[in-house]
Amino acid sequence: MQITQTSLKGKTALVTGAASGIGRNLALVFAQAGAAVAVADLNQAGADAVAQEIVAAGGRALGVAMDVSDEAQVDAGFARAVAGLGEIDVLVANAGIQIVNPIEQFAFADWKRLLAIHLDGAFLCTKAALRSMYKDQRGGVVLYMGSVHSHEASPLKSAYVAAKHGLLGLARVLAKEGGAKGVRSHVLCPGFVRTPLVDNQIPEQAKELGISEQDVVRNVMLRDTVDGAFTTLDDVAQTALFLAAFPTAALTGQSITISHGWSMN
Ligand code: NAD
Repeated sequence: MQITQTSLKGKTALVTGAASGIGRNLALVFAQAGAAVAVADLNQAGADAVAQEIVAAGGRALGVAMDVSDEAQVDAGFARAVAGLGEIDVLVANAGIQIVNPIEQFAFADWKRLLAIHLDGAFLCTKAALRSMYKDQRGGVVLYMGSVHSHEASPLKSAYVAAKHGLLGLARVLAKEGGAKGVRSHVLCPGFVRTPLVDNQIPEQAKELGISEQDVVRNVMLRDTVDGAFTTLDDVAQTALFLAAFPTAALTGQSITISHGWSMN
């Protein structure tokens, strides 16, 4: 067996949270690799702009507005994507938010909102994608956007760490249930990537921890990396592309850490 294929030609991918940051870049890289891409996001205008960028570069794409924590919106969004681009072969459940606070001050409403987006969203999108992937034994790949926080803990991030650990369980169950039907799953676990989600945390953490923003970057975010470097958008997208295009179930149920050595799990 030769493992040289990194093409997604003929495949349709749906990427959630794809109007910004990691999801946006994934959508662009998957389109460059030949996939038709449903660019799904809460932010309709942002999703449409990324889809237009792909189309302008000669690819196939569709902006799809959906709140991943709302079952009716997810089902309607997948139906639009399938009608416009064909059955879904690759799902990237990427949409996410961050809320930082010590546990004793963490509002229950914030806990529920974060889990609804990360975990309910991953579950609902998986269920919707399986309608395509289980049809006629087509098979497919589901990539969950975990984090180094799928394996490690940090102060102030109770809901986020709990949600990202939870994705490992969902991915492993899907690998077992979907195996016989040609469906594989993985959890991508990036270290810190400079996106709006991280840029917003720097001043928040500086305030909570009583240190400068520079110290948050140097001594909190990148302290345990081997080279003091941020993970890049392309580091994540290229790893996702490799897993999405991998031809067999030799790789399934895995979590892959992309973190400059911060975590070696
Ligand atoms: P981002 O803020 O740049 O993008 C997140 C996108 O998700 C936004 O476009 C937003 O509109 C969308 N979104 C939010 N709530 C949604 C909902 N309910 N339904 C649909 N879309 C919704 O963030 P990012 O840094 O690109 O993060 C993307 C994913 O990567 C998240 O799951 C995050 O936890 C994970 N992650 C990020 C980092 C990092 O350092 N940036 C590291 C590890 C993991």
